[in-house]
Amino acid sequence: MDLYEYQARDLFESHGVPVLGGAVATTPDEAEKAAAKIGGRVVVKAQVKVGGRGKAGGVKLAEDAADARVKAEAILGMDIKGHTVHQVMIAEAAPIEAEYYLAILLDRANRNFLVMASVAGGMEIEEVAHTSPEKLARVGIDPNKGISAATAQEIVAKGQFPADIAPQVEAVLLKLWDAFVAEDATLMEINPLVKTQDGKVVALDGKVTLDDNAGFRHPTHEDLVDHAAANPLEALAKEKGLNYVKLEGEVGIIGNGAGLVMSTLDVVAYAGEKYGVKPANFLDIGGGASSEVMANGLSIILGDPDVRSVFVNVFGGITACDAVANGIVAALAILGDKATKPIVVRLDGNNVLEGRRILNEAAHPLVTQLDTMDGAAARAAELAAK
Ligand code: GDP
Ligand code: MN
Repeated sequence: MDLYEYQARDLFESHGVPVLGGAVATTPDEAEKAAAKIGGRVVVKAQVKVGGRGKAGGVKLAEDAADARVKAEAILGMDIKGHTVHQVMIAEAAPIEAEYYLAILLDRANRNFLVMASVAGGMEIEEVAHTSPEKLARVGIDPNKGISAATAQEIVAKGQFPADIAPQVEAVLLKLWDAFVAEDATLMEINPLVKTQDGKVVALDGKVTLDDNAGFRHPTHEDLVDHAAANPLEALAKEKGLNYVKLEGEVGIIGNGAGLVMSTLDVVAYAGEKYGVKPANFLDIGGGASSEVMANGLSIILGDPDVRSVFVNVFGGITACDAVANGIVAALAILGDKATKPIVVRLDGNNVLEGRRILNEAAHPLVTQLDTMDGAAARAAELAAK
């Protein structure tokens, strides 16, 4: 889960990473009140989960509370790279002397963590990494050792931070590491980390990704979920305990086993090229494909207005094909006339002949059976194109 900047700010604050005062607002009125409470000059910042807000006009300085209201009016409702701004953060304005970059992230390829630090912060770090890689220190962190004071010192030296603020940057890095570990994050990025005119080092912008797989250890992380922004189909699927991800295409996909579903997406994407159609979702109904699970899965996929055909791809293993076929028949009976789109079924594996016989006998007008995965994918793509 990615956090909004204001959530990252709050999380940083709770772990002792230095930040400035800030509050979130959803209306110009709230923005004005928040600015009055902070007092003086403030920065009004669009809260969207995408970078480059500054360049897009989503970060504006305001002289006072009345001005903050005007700036919030301009920013609320703005579209930044396809994200509509529904909230702004009102933050204490910092007189900036220098902008730095500091991040900790999970480095999957090297099976460890990576710290990146640079005195060339503020701008897009990809640009720095590309044009002047020597300005970006990259240091791998052994997960079993973490970041010690000595490691922090080494990183800050490698990042060529000025001597007068080096101890402060080291302290921020140590706090950031504590926060990273305590919250089970996969990314904590500060850009910019600034030096203010009075020589203090503070985090002005935070980007945080929390590891959902560790969610069970963090009951409070649930409060950070933006339910309003969640895809309604994904929310419904989650409620039903289904492993569903909405994609952008037209062919609904149901399969058993994540690996099979992944390869089904590939096969459908390939078959769909000819017709200009793509997979509409990922849905793994898992091992025990009961009729109820099948009905829940089918109803979510059929409820997606983008879906024009459905491909049910099942390989019978522990759950035999006859059970799956009975599940499909029962699911269609449960759905009744809510089932309106053509469904292509490919069964294979354990007890496949009996499974196919059951579907043939049921002879549901929406259901077509094909014996091969490629054949079924091609048919589903063709039906979606009609
Ligand atoms: P991003 O563009 O989405 O990464 O948003 P940031 O929060 O990083 O803001 C972009 C830029 O706005 C920063 O690099 C700063 O130059 C500027 N900025 C952000 N907050 C402040 C602030 O409190 N005071 C001042 N003077 N500038 C700020
Ligand atoms: Mn930034």
